[in-house]
This record gives sequence, C-alpha cells and structure tokens, in this order.
Amino acid sequence: MAKLLEGKPIAEKIKEEIRQSILVLKAKPVLASIQVGENAGADAYVRSQNKVADALGVVYQLHKLTAETTEYALIEFIKKLNLDTSVNGIIVQMPLPQQIDYKKISQFIASQKDVEGMHPESIGNILFGKSRILPCTPAAVMELLKASGVDLYGKEVVVVGHSEIVGKPLALLLLDKFATVTVCHIGTSKAGKLQEHVAKAEVLIVAVGKAGLIKGEWVKEGAVVIDVGINRVADKIVGDVEFEGAEKRASCITPVPGGVGPLTVTMLMRNLVEAAKLQQGV
Ligand code: NAP
Repeated sequence: MAKLLEGKPIAEKIKEEIRQSILVLKAKPVLASIQVGENAGADAYVRSQNKVADALGVVYQLHKLTAETTEYALIEFIKKLNLDTSVNGIIVQMPLPQQIDYKKISQFIASQKDVEGMHPESIGNILFGKSRILPCTPAAVMELLKASGVDLYGKEVVVVGHSEIVGKPLALLLLDKFATVTVCHIGTSKAGKLQEHVAKAEVLIVAVGKAGLIKGEWVKEGAVVIDVGINRVADKIVGDVEFEGAEKRASCITPVPGGVGPLTVTMLMRNLVEAAKLQQGV
C-alpha cells in the first residue's frame, strides 16, 4: 500500500520558514488581492488566503470591484497598485467576468509584484533556472516530490495536462532537475497513447480536471503519484487518478483533497515574501 503524501505537514514546515523570513523584512509584507464581481469560488479562495495570511503575519488587503468593471478600469487599478510602494504583491482572483481577459491583465502586474509567478518574465526566468518566484501549483508539486524523497535525476517523469498554470511550467522545473520528462495532453489521449505513457512513469503527475481519467491499473509498480486534479463527483471531491487502484501499486500518492491543495496558498505566501525581499534588496 502506498505511503500518503499529505500537503498539510509540509505546508506547516514551510510556513515556519516564511515566518522566519518575514522577521528580516523592514515591514510586514502586504498582499493586495483583487476580486471582480461576486463568486462563491473566489470567496472561498479569498477566505483561505486571508486565513493563512493572518496566521503568518501578512497584511491581506482585499479590493472588491463590481462585476461591471471594464478591462481598462482593472488595468488602471493594477497600475496604481504597482506604483504603491507599501504593496509587495498583487493577485487577481479567478474567475473574472467575461469582459476581462486574465492573460491580458496579468501582464500588467509589475513582475516584482507577481506573486502568482505567471508574468512572462517569471515564466522566462524558469527557462533559465534562475527564478525566485515560481507559479504556485507547480511549486507545490515540487515540494511534494522533495518530501517523497524521490531523486528526479534521470527518472521517467510523466506529466498529464499541459496548461499554462500547471503542466507547462512544471515540465520546465522537472527538466531543471534532470528528469526525463514526457508531457501528455489531449492529443496523447486522442492518439490512444495515454495509458502507454502513464505505464512507464516512475513519477506521475496529473493535472487535467477529469475524475478517474487515469486508471489505477495503469500506474507503474512503485511509482510516485501526484494528483493535482480537483473534481466534484456526487458531493465528494476526487482527483484525476483512480485512488483505490493506484494506491495499491504506487509507493507514494497524494490524497485528494489534502495533497497539493493545502500547499498552494503557502506557495503564494512564500512568493510574496520573496517578492518583498527582492523589492527591499534583501
Ligand atoms: P486546464 O487549464 O483545464 O488544463 C487541463 C489540461 O488537461 C489541458 O492541458 C488539457 O489539454 C488537458 N486534457 C484535457 N483532457 C485531457 C485528456 N483526456 N487527456 C489528457 N489531457 C487532457 O486545467 P488546470 O488549470 O491546469 O487544472 C487542472 C486540474 O488541476 C483541475 O482539476 C484544477 O481544478 C486542478 N488544480 C488544482 C490545484 C490545487 O491547488 N490542487 C491548483 C490548480 C489546478 P488541452 O488544453 O489540449 O485540451
């Protein structure tokens, strides 16, 4: 039976490191969070970020804009926060109303305040292996892999899902550790080759958003399995990997919920402190 790779104990350890880092800053770090319109999902993210911020001694500044806010008005608002030297990081909550294109507005967040690690400069720095600010979910996955004790050097690592926020940046972080990385996506599935690739993975990371996409019996004996997926099925939250079958074959596996999820907000706070350090030349 696989060992469970739980996110919470790892998050607690990193939170302690964050508290220590905050002590060397000139002032408490300030995170400006922008929510446009009302949305239950965004409300839940905001509550959870606010809770972690309070626990760490981070100032969480919530800016609620109306659902009618135009793209131009949001960009102007972001520009003001960019110039506000008391603000160390800026996050725009998803989802956004349809008149606003996240890809467009995210480029207006100053790269030194980009705590989500999604500014083109932050992504570019990953390519050169010199980024101090990493996208939160890939960073959470890398922490879970570190905790699993797996040495990525030369390992067959398969990432399923090639989104800009998870799969693509994660593939670059894994390459930086000299893993042999295969990235699967919809084309792989349509070509009927997903099982073939999954079966050779010594480390399998799945970020798709389709419950049970990866069958338990596909998982290689002894593999490390990180399931990023979050799916609601009949009032239960499940991942993309069939847990019961996979845990019999894997050496380590993340539970859903309780694996990647608890770490992502912690990564956001770590990025905020890193951003504050960069701004203060620490
Ligand atoms: P996304 O932007 O929708 O990307 C999904 C990816 O899966 C795309 O690359 C898509 O390819 C690919 N895909 C779709 N169907 C596939 C199939 N049948 N076989 C192989 N690949 C397939 O989603 P995301 O934002 O990356 O999130 C992925 C999942 O992770 C979601 O469940 C999300 O809720 C969860 N998530 C969890 C956390 C956390 O903190 N735990 C954080 C972020 C995301 P195409 O684009 O080519 O169709």
